[in-house]
Amino acid sequence: MYPSSTTLRRSAYGFSTALPGTPSPGPASRAPVPAAMMSSLRAREHPVRPGPLSMLAAAPGRSRAGRGGRWARMGRIPPPSAHRRVPVMPGCTHATARRPLRGRRRSTTAKARTVTEQQHTTESTGYDFRAIEAAWPSFWAEQKVYEPLDDGSRERRYVLDMFPYPSGDLHMGHAEAFAMGDVVARYWRQRGYDVLHPIGWDSFGLPAENAAIKRDAHPAEWTYANIETQKASFQRYAISADWTREIHTSDPEYYRWTQWLFLQFHAKGLAYRKNSPVNWCPKDQTVLANEQVVNGACERCGTPVTKKALNQWYFKITDYADRLLDDMAALEGHWPERVLAMQRNWIGRSEGAHVRFAIEGAGEDGADRQVTVFTTRPDTLHGATFFVVAADAELAGEIVAPEHAEELAAYREQVKALSDIERQATDRQKTGVFLGRHAVNPLTGEKLPVWAADYVLADYGTGAIMAVPAHDQRDLDFARTFDLPVRAVLDTGEEDPAVTGIATTGEGTLINSGELDGLEKAQAIERAIGIVEAAGTGNRQVNFRLRDWLLSRQRFWGAPIPIVHCPACGEVPVPEEQLPVRLPDDLRGEQLAPKGRSPLATAEDWVNVECPACGGPALRDTDTMDTFVDSSWYYLRFASPDDENAAFDLEQTRKWLPVDQYVGGVEHAILHLLYSRFFTKVLFDLGLVDFTEPFKALLNQGQVLNGGKAMSKSLGNGVDLGEQLDEFGVDAVRLTMVFASPPEDDVDWADVSPQGSQKFLARAWRLAQDVTSAPGADPASGDQGVRRAAHRAVDDAGQLLDAGKFNVVVAKTMELVNVVRKAIDSGCGPADPAVREAVEAVAVVLSLVAPYTAEDMWHTLGHAGSVVVAGWPEVDPALLVDDTVTAVVQIKGKVRDRLEVPADIAEDALRELALASETIRRQLGDAEIRKVIVRAPKLVNIVA
Ligand SMILES: [Zn+2]
Ligand SMILES: [Zn+2]
Repeated sequence: MYPSSTTLRRSAYGFSTALPGTPSPGPASRAPVPAAMMSSLRAREHPVRPGPLSMLAAAPGRSRAGRGGRWARMGRIPPPSAHRRVPVMPGCTHATARRPLRGRRRSTTAKARTVTEQQHTTESTGYDFRAIEAAWPSFWAEQKVYEPLDDGSRERRYVLDMFPYPSGDLHMGHAEAFAMGDVVARYWRQRGYDVLHPIGWDSFGLPAENAAIKRDAHPAEWTYANIETQKASFQRYAISADWTREIHTSDPEYYRWTQWLFLQFHAKGLAYRKNSPVNWCPKDQTVLANEQVVNGACERCGTPVTKKALNQWYFKITDYADRLLDDMAALEGHWPERVLAMQRNWIGRSEGAHVRFAIEGAGEDGADRQVTVFTTRPDTLHGATFFVVAADAELAGEIVAPEHAEELAAYREQVKALSDIERQATDRQKTGVFLGRHAVNPLTGEKLPVWAADYVLADYGTGAIMAVPAHDQRDLDFARTFDLPVRAVLDTGEEDPAVTGIATTGEGTLINSGELDGLEKAQAIERAIGIVEAAGTGNRQVNFRLRDWLLSRQRFWGAPIPIVHCPACGEVPVPEEQLPVRLPDDLRGEQLAPKGRSPLATAEDWVNVECPACGGPALRDTDTMDTFVDSSWYYLRFASPDDENAAFDLEQTRKWLPVDQYVGGVEHAILHLLYSRFFTKVLFDLGLVDFTEPFKALLNQGQVLNGGKAMSKSLGNGVDLGEQLDEFGVDAVRLTMVFASPPEDDVDWADVSPQGSQKFLARAWRLAQDVTSAPGADPASGDQGVRRAAHRAVDDAGQLLDAGKFNVVVAKTMELVNVVRKAIDSGCGPADPAVREAVEAVAVVLSLVAPYTAEDMWHTLGHAGSVVVAGWPEVDPALLVDDTVTAVVQIKGKVRDRLEVPADIAEDALRELALASETIRRQLGDAEIRKVIVRAPKLVNIVA
């Protein structure tokens, strides 16, 4: 049904290379090295270290036709200029070894001046990102560096990026988010963990369906084509993902298990159907969960949301409200505080009481009808002066007196057009209708008029409230609109709300409240609960703002709900062995257009089935599941993605889960993250997993802006990722994303410099070209200053990475590159083993952000394996002790030189060092030294 991944695979960026995760072509069919790469190789004229031939020849994965030629050339032909170099003494600390190579390089550059500026830049540095990008993907694929060993030899870590939706190609936002997650995955690999870093697609959903309607196609065609495009881009972007575990939620092999999980929930009573007013998007013609209504509008298309009474499927997430709140304690400090706060607020736990009011004559045969309200302020029961029922609640229609029914019906029509947000807005003129009934206050016996109004919501609490206008602003506004009484029962020291029109909500002492008079608010709440409980008219109650999760959608491109409706048996689960209930593949284009009911309802062959229980004629449920169901368990599937016998393998999830680091946008704070937490808890209760929280740590990356604003078509400030990659290279774009700010902050593309990143990468890359010592050279004898800088940088980088300050790691690496450059040019020189040690450290740290450049450096340095698994450099604590200071050498009060000296240097030793400085000797010339003032360890002033 779906195009296979290989038939659609294409090279989106003009170079052809074996992609990781695909069978690698044999040597005979290996693609030739692109011309650009060859020219860059020729440009790297200067000879690299004469290392052991075996190591140089054994660069696996490289094309013999390409790089092999270069290696052979360099390995066999004696590298003349390396021998011509000024001999470098290991451990030298003085500027004697100015490299003769520099002159040579300049002349090479001079020759290239006639060519274009672009080529000039490339030639002058030799750094050709296009060639480097072409060189390594096949090597990584062959080496399987991104696949976990999964052999128990190492501690496991699971890094997960929120999986993408396949809408078009990757954009700048993906580039940022995935760069951050990749830093973590790559860092943990270097640290020696066995890292699981999988990727997949959240591939059901409306955009595919809308595209299919527009193009007279099946949604799968659009979806799987986009996946291939994105996949190629991810691979170009060198995300260190294990492509062998790729999943798509729209594959029958996946949604079979989504349906199976639904049935587990159903069997537990956690998936149920009910008729209620639901959020309805008139444009998409489908229901929306509360979480998918943003400021009264459809999250997807922005159309104002209306209410519609429908029979819908729900997950009973409210059963887990307490645990969803309580278990957040374990996430404190590991999840962003704002996400926890948003979840807390969304769950909205409040303590108070249920209080029952009798509505006179509203029951059967003119009897009273008991109606329960939830209140957080039972202390104000004496201040209740009227009673309000949500206009759209079924209750309103049930209790309305016959002579007011018509008025209510008219009012309900008016309310239908309003969103919940509009209804609850405090500044709106209050509307409502009297229902011709009275409710008896259980505490006072007072009869309160019963109204229907829109400012009370049908699905919050019980859909009815006792109105206390003196101490609730919306009640007060309503009271003033309809001339209802206002009675203050708490003396807060403020003016009477009946006079001011401002409800008082602070602390105070009870008044006008009978036996509660004189009590403080908190005491009065307790006492009032005691009274109603004793009288049997109420009880202590915790209430939640959280509603059950409405999961059914009247759309096509989702997992069909695996239920059959039988006139004789009712709701019958589809038997496990009949899963998946596949989507019909013959519906396309206009047949999928929204008509207010699921397009599946029109597929008669599909809908009409035999009842699995009695064999009689029955109908399939025609709704599909919200895509948030698919994404509530995908992180589990990655542990055993090909399992045909289970949604996930208990042993595998035990090994890999929970996710150690989850990375994604803050927009999922209360949708996906809350649902996933709920799923995990249910699965724990079902004995299917042995943990209760799916994501130990969460990182919310920022957005990519342009000119201070989110990129958008209407603003015309969009930046095309592909163009950026073409112009600056993958590594420069990745480095820019990471360097721009801490991961959780926004990146403004107008303020950053991918050019600067590219220059830095070229500088770092050049270091590897310049190193002349052999791999494995013992750095102990090397320059101590360089060693100290390298060990300090690696140590800092480790701590900064653990603390999530990725941007500072880049800054520290830049500093180290400068130190090494100076050491090569005017310090101990390129043969010093400390230089090699430092450049290898640069390559390993850079491998987290600039994988292509780092890999190229690593091989230039003579290593055969991949830098991806090189291992984090070991830090020598002795080298972290900062025991040198900078001494300033002045001549007649003017600074002429600076020397790195031991902090405890003696005055005589410092004097001698200063006078021995070549710079100082040149400056002094023949002048007679009259006096030398030494203030060890920081200052030497020579009076000449
Ligand atoms: Zn919509
Ligand atoms: Zn039946």
